[in-house]
Amino acid sequence: MTGNADVTAKSEIAVGRPWRPKRVLITRSALEWQHGCDIAERAAALGIDVQTLSTDRLSLALPDDERQAYAAAKQTLAIVVAPPSKRRLQPIAPSADWRIDLAEGCPAHCSYCYLAGSLKGPPITRAYANLPEILAEIPTHIGCGTVTSRSARRAHEGTTFEASCYTDPLALEHITGSLSATIAWFGALDANAQLRFTSKFDAVGPLLNLGHHGCTRMRASVSPARYAGFEGGTSPVSARLAGLAAMGHAGYPIGLTIAPIIVADGWETAYAELIGQAARALSAIPAPDLTIELITHRYSPTSKAVLDGWYPGSALTMDAVNRTEKRTKFGSVKHVYDADTMRALRGFFETEIARALPAARILYWT
Ligand code: SF4
Repeated sequence: MTGNADVTAKSEIAVGRPWRPKRVLITRSALEWQHGCDIAERAAALGIDVQTLSTDRLSLALPDDERQAYAAAKQTLAIVVAPPSKRRLQPIAPSADWRIDLAEGCPAHCSYCYLAGSLKGPPITRAYANLPEILAEIPTHIGCGTVTSRSARRAHEGTTFEASCYTDPLALEHITGSLSATIAWFGALDANAQLRFTSKFDAVGPLLNLGHHGCTRMRASVSPARYAGFEGGTSPVSARLAGLAAMGHAGYPIGLTIAPIIVADGWETAYAELIGQAARALSAIPAPDLTIELITHRYSPTSKAVLDGWYPGSALTMDAVNRTEKRTKFGSVKHVYDADTMRALRGFFETEIARALPAARILYWT
């Protein structure tokens, strides 16, 4: 099961290797933050060209050709200051009470990427320099929220803050250090609150010895190994599971985000293998605090148009077969699997998980 996404990824990112952007830009305002300077220094120490901008405007000078512009954008990291509008916490059901953004964008090349419909402009990655201002928003939200804070089933998680909505924070961690700093911040916070992040990467080494005090839950975002062609530039699923197991051994609460669940030929076998593989990878962790989130593939007309441009020829099916339209609360359209397909999928996953991972708690199905 391969498509152009696979080819693109292998040529631009060595699979399983830490991301190495071709260029790093730092804006004038970002230079005023120690965290911004630290990111720039880390990038320079990796031998990456760091350009200091005299303004806060990002002059990207991308090629006219759409494919080349995409590739150049994906190889660019900008260190910027998150404006107040980006720092304002937003509800993020069903994952968590609140969304917290440490960065925006991701260097990987998933042919279903949910960011395609959310982020505007060329797909560069922006890391936020003003981390102290971002973290300062959190205390006033503790005890508020509509997901874990209001759920009898999940109240023990505390007020939850999801850091993976607009980025994959682990993909950037070797350059930004933002995730480590945030984990340590939550660990030192004397409050009933939890940081959450999910990742398609495996480089958890810098996180293992942090003073997390059980206040951060990492989930590995996983798909069957045979779907690797849809997830260019990410770590192999076996490496993600090994990283998650290491986090579990380090005392972190852990989880699996099985996403997006894709109905392709042989999906039952593929997902049964994946769940079995996860069970084996996590089997040596004594009494793991393990959750599972199940998210089916969906797309909007906007995200489909963007993804068709980024990954022409991808084998990922985004047509009307097995699909129905759903309106979001904001009135926009999403194409989701139809009721019969969803019923079959849900029954399959609940049965397989109960069989292979009986101690896991399924948090939600969507
Ligand atoms: Fe998008 Fe996640 Fe893939 Fe990054 S890892 S390209 S955020 S789906």
